[in-house]
Amino acid sequence: ALQRGISRKSFRVYYQPIYDARTGRFRSAEALVRLHDEKLGSISPEEFIRVAEQTGLIHSIGEMVFEEVCRFLSESDVLERGIRFIEVNLSTVQCMDDHLAETFRAILDRYHVDPHRINLEITESAVIFNESVMVNSIRKLQQEGFSFSLDDFGTGNASYSYIAKYPFRLIKIDKSFLWESEKDPVRNVIFLNMLSLIRGLERRSVAEGVETEKQKQMLIQRGTDYLQGYYFSKPLPEDQFLEYLALSNS
Ligand code: C2E
Ligand code: CA
Ligand code: CA
Repeated sequence: ALQRGISRKSFRVYYQPIYDARTGRFRSAEALVRLHDEKLGSISPEEFIRVAEQTGLIHSIGEMVFEEVCRFLSESDVLERGIRFIEVNLSTVQCMDDHLAETFRAILDRYHVDPHRINLEITESAVIFNESVMVNSIRKLQQEGFSFSLDDFGTGNASYSYIAKYPFRLIKIDKSFLWESEKDPVRNVIFLNMLSLIRGLERRSVAEGVETEKQKQMLIQRGTDYLQGYYFSKPLPEDQFLEYLALSNS
């Protein structure tokens, strides 16, 4: 199905708006890949990204996602609608490609996109398990002008030193911490400490998986910088995402 998706160009990129607590506006969005296969129907990226990594197909899929985001940034009026940058997920396997930074640079040039418009998300476990590969790759991409987010923070036996050591401008706390903090007082202490630690290290926090008004209020009260979740919107195809911004960002 992945091979079919690549050759028939049936992957789609959806955008989930990210809410800026300080301004009450949507200032960024996460690009999330979707695959609808003619035989198997819709397949979740939870399932197919792993297979794409194991087979090496992630190189083509990741490049396709990156190019699609650049096309969107250059051809639509998304920036005029208040979006400052798009978050793009980067797999560890992509970082093992020595030419990744050059490939991205060539795509940026082709679409005349400023790299400051793209923030690359790297999952915490990738940094922990492949530190030297990731550091090397982050350095090269940083020289090209990209910035970074640490994704799924807390899932890979969070070592706080990674936040201080590497240039992550956003720290995305994994949604399980928000959800469990409502039921479990110990988890709640951990969650609140993560927020204050991120602030203390002068990074910006993102809470994922915000689904209720109550969660939104609690997060804003606790000084979370950015909020993302179904409460605001599910990931949307490009035209619906633009409509959403027209309604909520004006
Ligand atoms: P992720 O990077 O942690 O992305 C957030 C996931 O949480 C997305 O799932 C999103 O739809 C979901 N989500 C957001 N808000 C809520 C909420 O309020 N409630 C619930 N229940 N879920 C919420 P999705 O799109 O299925 O993606 C799953 C994972 O697949 C992503 O997790 C990411 O690791 C990977 N992925 C998706 N697109 C790409 C891509 O282009 N490249 C790479 N390398 N990985 C990708
Ligand atoms: Ca992500
Ligand atoms: Ca995440």
